[in-house]
Amino acid sequence: MEPFYMRQDTSIPYFSLKEWEEKFPHLVVGMSARDIHSKEDPDRWNYALHVGEDPGRVVQNREQLLSQLRFPVSSWTCANQVHGTHVHVVDQSERGRGKESQETAIPATDGLITGEEDVLLSSFYADCVPLLFYSPEADIVGVAHAGWRGTVGEIGRRMVEAMESKGASAKTILAAIAPSIGGCCYEVDEKVAHPLLEVLPDASSEVLRPVQPGKWKLDLRQANRQLLMRAGLQPENIIVTKWCTSCHPELFHSHRRDQGKTGRMVAFIGKRKGRGRHG
Ligand SMILES: [Zn+2]
Repeated sequence: MEPFYMRQDTSIPYFSLKEWEEKFPHLVVGMSARDIHSKEDPDRWNYALHVGEDPGRVVQNREQLLSQLRFPVSSWTCANQVHGTHVHVVDQSERGRGKESQETAIPATDGLITGEEDVLLSSFYADCVPLLFYSPEADIVGVAHAGWRGTVGEIGRRMVEAMESKGASAKTILAAIAPSIGGCCYEVDEKVAHPLLEVLPDASSEVLRPVQPGKWKLDLRQANRQLLMRAGLQPENIIVTKWCTSCHPELFHSHRRDQGKTGRMVAFIGKRKGRGRHG
């Protein structure tokens, strides 16, 4: 069964990662969707402050989602994503960074982790792979933005190492790979395939499949799954979505499909205050 469940009980379209939310009632974890009901304004639910976007509307969207998730208005915390591999540990004083403007966002960072309550870690997507993390042992959450550059730079392993430095152990860390472009739609050339093969020399055809000379179909989700297992995660602790952002224009923004003219979904994870780890 698809692990990312489309909520029907809200006015804001988003997916919840049901399994984690049911097991750990203080967790809020999921990913936003496009507005399937609004034909005239399908980019209504854009969450990223990028050039050409009305910042007022983006901030309003963020606040509406926070209110839906029952998180305080000041809890939205995000970074300026640069397709890098830097991981930052968010402390209580950094709560709310980047919510209102790019200037206050955590600079040049693609991975965020925190053990703090009432901090909603958020990062933005239109095809790249969201990696979500939770350590039940250390009660630490994380999110990382893995496009092909982050994937071959092993941002997944860096997230695991950062969580280990905060008391988690790799063999009990849970990871979830959220909606993103699938191997069905992501065609790459040697500029991407070669660095990928350097980091995953034994990549199976499930990860990288030749389609014609100099062209491959790449499944970044499976690549990240294999890299996370190499970093010490148990295969049964890694959840992988089946949703492809490019295949489903009614649900997802897709940079490739829409040739760069698109909004961004948000992947989010946080610990709600006042609820114990076990409900
Ligand atoms: Zn697809």
